[in-house]
Amino acid sequence: MSENTFELPHNSPVEPTRLELEDKLKFRCHKDISCWNQCCAQADVSLAPYDIIRMKTHLGISSTDFLKDYTVPYEIDSHNVPGIKLRTTEARACLFMKESGCSIYEDRPTACRYYPSGLLSMRALGMKEDERHFLLIKEPHCKGHDEAREITIADYRKEQAVEEFDDLNRDWYRIILKKKSTGPTIGKPSEMSLQLFFMASYDVDRFRRFILSDSFKKMYDVSAEEFARFENDDVALMQFGFALMKQVLFGEMSIKERTGAGDQRAEERKEVLAYRKEAELNEHNRKQEEARKAALEEGDSPASK
Ligand code: SF4
Ligand code: SF4
Repeated sequence: MSENTFELPHNSPVEPTRLELEDKLKFRCHKDISCWNQCCAQADVSLAPYDIIRMKTHLGISSTDFLKDYTVPYEIDSHNVPGIKLRTTEARACLFMKESGCSIYEDRPTACRYYPSGLLSMRALGMKEDERHFLLIKEPHCKGHDEAREITIADYRKEQAVEEFDDLNRDWYRIILKKKSTGPTIGKPSEMSLQLFFMASYDVDRFRRFILSDSFKKMYDVSAEEFARFENDDVALMQFGFALMKQVLFGEMSIKERTGAGDQRAEERKEVLAYRKEAELNEHNRKQEEARKAALEEGDSPASK
């Protein structure tokens, strides 16, 4: 196998060829195409932290409500690192799909912007820095590949305004890559660090309350100006979260701890674990509500009368 190819599971729609920024795609998507909306009718969209900030701001809701109403959990790797995907209808349609197209188009997530290409972040064995390549996804329903237009990956990224998303999510992708490449060395992450990873990655509004709590302030030596910025600036808070994750997961100490911080750790753990219990309760309530609605619908169906 050449270094520009990679192995894929059987039946994967991904082409096994690695693409670089100057490689060309033959592709165009437009409203008059025969397959309009078919990609969104079978959505499988994983989300990164900045995606969530953009979508919850667009919808005018908190990240906590966004997670509850629009996402489902999955595991990113075999060490239970938590990921989230967009929730779909039972028929797999994205909840944001409307007849006219995507109802959150200007704030759609990274994966939707890249499609039918994808970002392939990888770290070669023994290398410290990650490499960025791209891949091509060819699904039979997508007729955009039959269109005559050719465009480089670099220009497609500009056209889809994906660069800002990649720049802001880059540190998070690095954390995941590092976690994958050093996993067996540093062992399985603790339950507390996984919960912190979840909150700092996906639930920025909840993370804000955690960071601005007295117990956090007693533990970390962060300036009053920085704390003031975190009150209103989601992106600054997200980036602080990346630094905290690196500290907790890999011991990369970039946030100064106060003397005697150890005494506060139990308090910090208590808050993170309380968050987990609340998240579990929300998920439990959501499932119960879905089951209740399904039972009601079944009772209403003509077959049951
Ligand atoms: S977010 Fe928008 S573009 Fe992405 S799958 Fe949903 S409807 Fe389609
Ligand atoms: S061309 Fe592909 S990306 Fe565009 S609407 Fe059709 S299936 Fe979706």
